Amino acid sequence: MNGVSIFTVDQAKLTSLALLGTACLTCSKIPDELKRCPVCKAVSYCSDTCQIGDFESHFMTCSMLTVVSMLLPLEDRQYIFEKRRVPYDLEIDISLICQGNIRTMQMALPKVGGELTSIHCDLVNYKPRCAVCLCSADDKRALEGPEYPHLLHCSECRAAFACSEDHRAQYLNEHCQQLERNESFTECEMNKRAFEDSLEIVTRGWTLSETLWFPMRHKSEYAPLPPSWAEWFADPSNLCPPDSSAALNRVRTKQLSIPMTVLYGMEHFDGAAGDLPLLSSRTELEIAVVGASDFELRFGGLTVFEEILHCLPSLRRLTLRFIGPGVVRKLVGSDGEDRETLEWVPCAFCKEKGVEILHTIHPELFHNHAEECIAKAATGDGPAFRWPDIAVTFNSGMGLAVGMKSEWSPTLEMLAKNGVPTICTSFLEREAEEDDNFLRRHHCNVVFRFHKNPWRSEAVAKMLYTRKGFFSYNNFVQGFRGWSDSSYFPRWDVRNFLARDSRDEYYG
Ligand SMILES: [Zn+2]
Ligand SMILES: [Zn+2]
Ligand SMILES: [Zn+2]
Ligand SMILES: [Zn+2]
Ligand SMILES: [Zn+2]
Repeated sequence: MNGVSIFTVDQAKLTSLALLGTACLTCSKIPDELKRCPVCKAVSYCSDTCQIGDFESHFMTCSMLTVVSMLLPLEDRQYIFEKRRVPYDLEIDISLICQGNIRTMQMALPKVGGELTSIHCDLVNYKPRCAVCLCSADDKRALEGPEYPHLLHCSECRAAFACSEDHRAQYLNEHCQQLERNESFTECEMNKRAFEDSLEIVTRGWTLSETLWFPMRHKSEYAPLPPSWAEWFADPSNLCPPDSSAALNRVRTKQLSIPMTVLYGMEHFDGAAGDLPLLSSRTELEIAVVGASDFELRFGGLTVFEEILHCLPSLRRLTLRFIGPGVVRKLVGSDGEDRETLEWVPCAFCKEKGVEILHTIHPELFHNHAEECIAKAATGDGPAFRWPDIAVTFNSGMGLAVGMKSEWSPTLEMLAKNGVPTICTSFLEREAEEDDNFLRRHHCNVVFRFHKNPWRSEAVAKMLYTRKGFFSYNNFVQGFRGWSDSSYFPRWDVRNFLARDSRDEYYG
């Protein structure tokens, strides 16, 4: 098991290796010998000073970790780790154990005056496990006796583990191979990179909400995007802060991926527009973030979209509509509180130019939202409804829906039927393929086929609960505009108002 990029809000305080117990929990140093906390055995310190200094803050977490690690009855552990041999089953069992542990902490912590944080969740979810058999050191101690010391770790990245020399030898080859097709990194290198990234954030003392992720400048004329992040960061005006580093640039791509992917999609649609109006030369632009969730809003809020204003000189007003059932409970302000709308504090350049971002939030499915607006407009209870100029579904996993009974189906048909250019991204290539199938089954006219997104997040994240695997935000991208089969009309209720003409034809 490995630790790759553990990118939570609290990463500003802890590096990936501190969370895995292979670097000092307090200062992230890696001395020749680390002292493990003798109670929970989950975290380590470089010195007595670091350990004593952390005693108070670690005490509650320590007792929680110790208690939850003992909760699993011996028979269950034996059943999971000794009787079953199929890794796939194991992963499901482990995800259930982790979820159970987190629920227990969530209930127990308030009783002792604490509160569940993402650090607790990370300590449980990313707990070191043998890459071959998935045993943690706690499992080994329960199964083989309390004298079991701790897992062995890769001496290079310190983020891959094995329960024995035997299992280490079995895993070594895979650990040092390419991660996936067309990817030059090995798992070991990726782990090292994740530590560098998190160390950079911790060292600079950044918190995600304080960080300015976008460059402070306005382009005077529209310049097509360069082919890659590497070239984009080669332009000094894109560095932020000016003394940025390679690690910091990578970290910034997680947020910047949002506006850059939108701009990239707009270039593709403009390239294929024919006689349709171009998107990049508009003075006003309305973007619907369909199926919106925390990714778009949690860290940068509206600010991450500001780069679109910076890059399109003609644009005076950007309207953002965040639409999706998940959007409200995911809205978190800069100080961590839940909120209903977002603040936007424009940069000096946006202020001077007088450009603006407007936004609305709709915690409902897109097709329900649109139907409602159309109905209201028809009875005079609302303004005339406008389809967005562009829609985007970030990492939706829409294609994972089995069959046609999906909440995405009417939404996609509605967007396609009304010619809304729509960008779809996904975490993994497999998901991009599934999305592609799903779009075609819904008669969406694919304008650009799925491919690796040059503007994906370079802060790669470890898949939870699985033995291996990584994902990246907006890793793959594709786009559709329009309806590919004019003789076909949507089978959903939306046909009532979307395809009245074709239906009349059909029945007439
Ligand atoms: Zn230390
Ligand atoms: Zn402890
Ligand atoms: Zn093992
Ligand atoms: Zn390694
Ligand atoms: Zn600005």
